[in-house]
Amino acid sequence: MVSRFCALLLFVPATLVLCLSVTEVHAEETGLRAGAAQVDITPPTGVSLDGVISKNGPVTGVHDRIYSRALVLDDGNTRVAICVNDLCMVERSYFDRVKKIVSEKTGLPVNRMLMTSTHTHAAPRVPYGRASEQDDAYYESLIQKMATAIITAEQNLAPAQIAWGSFDAGRYAACRRFLAEKGSVSLNPFGVAGEQIKSVAGRSKQIIQPAAPIDPQCSILSVQHADGTPLAVLGNMSIHYCGGYRKGEISADYFGAYANYLAEKLASTGSHPPFVGMLSNGTSGNVGAVMKQDKKKYPPFAWIDESGKQFAEQTVKVLQKLKYQRNVPVEMVEREIELEIRKPDAERLAWAREILANPKQKTVHPWSKIYATEAVELDQYPATEKIKLQAIRIGDLGIAGLPCETFTETGLAIKAGSPFSATFSMELANGSSGYLPTPKQHALGGYETWPARSSYLEIDAETKIRQTALELLRQLHD
Ligand SMILES: [Zn+2]
Repeated sequence: MVSRFCALLLFVPATLVLCLSVTEVHAEETGLRAGAAQVDITPPTGVSLDGVISKNGPVTGVHDRIYSRALVLDDGNTRVAICVNDLCMVERSYFDRVKKIVSEKTGLPVNRMLMTSTHTHAAPRVPYGRASEQDDAYYESLIQKMATAIITAEQNLAPAQIAWGSFDAGRYAACRRFLAEKGSVSLNPFGVAGEQIKSVAGRSKQIIQPAAPIDPQCSILSVQHADGTPLAVLGNMSIHYCGGYRKGEISADYFGAYANYLAEKLASTGSHPPFVGMLSNGTSGNVGAVMKQDKKKYPPFAWIDESGKQFAEQTVKVLQKLKYQRNVPVEMVEREIELEIRKPDAERLAWAREILANPKQKTVHPWSKIYATEAVELDQYPATEKIKLQAIRIGDLGIAGLPCETFTETGLAIKAGSPFSATFSMELANGSSGYLPTPKQHALGGYETWPARSSYLEIDAETKIRQTALELLRQLHD
């Protein structure tokens, strides 16, 4: 109430303020309020990019700066925060620390914050890419900056209106796992035969079809100030990333290009805090970008820029048709579930130790040594992991937060089973627990299923996560 009066006093003639009755102010206070903010989280030269299996090495330059972007919504009863970060992925303990800081400073409960990573691969993977104390120093500053993004978004809360829509972006996406004929796939890194997935697109005659459908829907949540000025747009698209980077250069990938183009198109000058564009990753563990829309060969970063721009242009067209609401209920629930970890058995460990003891030997697969190292690493893991699942309701829109690199089938199943008229999911939410293939995709194999720090949850994890996400959405709806 105090901050609202301060805002009024700044921008409205004093005589008009005196004319406002208490009832009018109260009526406005019961409607939706929203605030958004972004904080630069670009790491300095030398901090490790990505890491583990892809080993991208240290930052040598910046193509485009990366941000932590936050949106806070409040319906008068419930306040929630959604924070989208231009990072490859972030382990749960780091997000938990951010939430604790925000909660202590603002009173916002930790179970009212959804934090996620976009999965740009031209950014740090926290902390899996750790290689030095400099990385630790960056991670500590990152925690503070992500907290600042949410705290500032909360401070920016102001009367708002909201709407949502979507457009078809299917031509930008393709399943990157291909189903191949039985017997046509070579031994996996562990020397096991029988897999049916080829992970790199090609003209192989043995490829039958893509192994899964894509999710073509780009969802958009648009928030305006009460006067109709754009406040924030939160998009959601199921494309892993665009790539086409120069080694060592930081980039927010198409997620950042989208946010920048939207800000260019929608930002207004005036009394409000700056507009914030955000694009979250949907469920894209198995779906990559189609870069050759026009058969052109794009130089580094060019397709990132072009697709971000095209997504922003299509978003603006959708925005022009939306009908905004002032009174929408906002609710949020979360639930923790405990899942088993696929730790190596004695035979796998013996295989790994033999390979690592004789590193010069010829192996059945070029990645056998990497997966031997991963087996030893996984042996140190606990038997189970607790993961956090969340659902948010904004009127008749549902949002599910899932902590893995989730496959598209899971996102499509959540959309189909959700009781809300519009639903989207955010992967890598509140943690990063590796790839989440469905049991069917586990049976087909491929690198996303091979046990490593990049894929370690039990085979049934997807079933349990999907069912829990749907239960949470139904709980909010009923
Ligand atoms: Zn990835």
